[in-house]
Amino acid sequence: MKTIGLIGGMSWESTVTYYQVINQMVGQSLGGLHSAKTLLYSVDFQEIEHCQANGEWDKSALILIDAAKRLALAGADFIVICTNTMHKVADKIQAAINIPILHIADITAQHLIKENIQTVALLGTKYTMEQDFYKSKLINKGLKVLIPDEQDRMIINQIIYDELCHGIIKPTSKQTYIDIIDKLVIKGAQGVILGCTEIGLLISQADHKIPFFDTALLHAQEAALSAINKSCF
Ligand code: GLU
Repeated sequence: MKTIGLIGGMSWESTVTYYQVINQMVGQSLGGLHSAKTLLYSVDFQEIEHCQANGEWDKSALILIDAAKRLALAGADFIVICTNTMHKVADKIQAAINIPILHIADITAQHLIKENIQTVALLGTKYTMEQDFYKSKLINKGLKVLIPDEQDRMIINQIIYDELCHGIIKPTSKQTYIDIIDKLVIKGAQGVILGCTEIGLLISQADHKIPFFDTALLHAQEAALSAINKSCF
């Protein structure tokens, strides 16, 4: 079994999901008392968020490169960055290490294609929704990506940083997300990417009939399968 190197803590609330899902998946696949071989480097999210808010992406990349190098040195066979947003600096991290990164947007795109989705709505932080680093991975695979309007993007982003990253789950925020999803369905979305690893703490497939692609779950499941030389695809 390969050892998974997790860069977590962004936020730690969703890193919990990764740890659970990875171990559940390995247990289900191998049976018995099998569990995943994992190393976790959990960052101080305040430092990362400060870099994001100030546009200091190179500085944040250095923090994550340091984490990735430590994981590689400790014996990780591949790296899983447990956040969508910080994949903005995934190429920089990859260039600094000799083990592969399992890219969250690549895994998500493969699931969308497998499910025959052509037009997809993307929910995530304002960085993920508005910038190109994530969307381009989807668009390059032929997918059409819809994002909420400016006001809705602000609300989605605020709920992520002010509530979900603090472990605060409010029914009103859940309804807000569902209302925004409804608008995107009217615009033609055939599926919705929960493109922030905390969104699955607020809403799940049971809340809507449109297919959800929960990036934390899909990423963690693929990480587990990769560790045992299997894949969802
Ligand atoms: N975990 C979130 C994501 O998947 C947001 C926190 C962050 O900025 O890293 O994008």
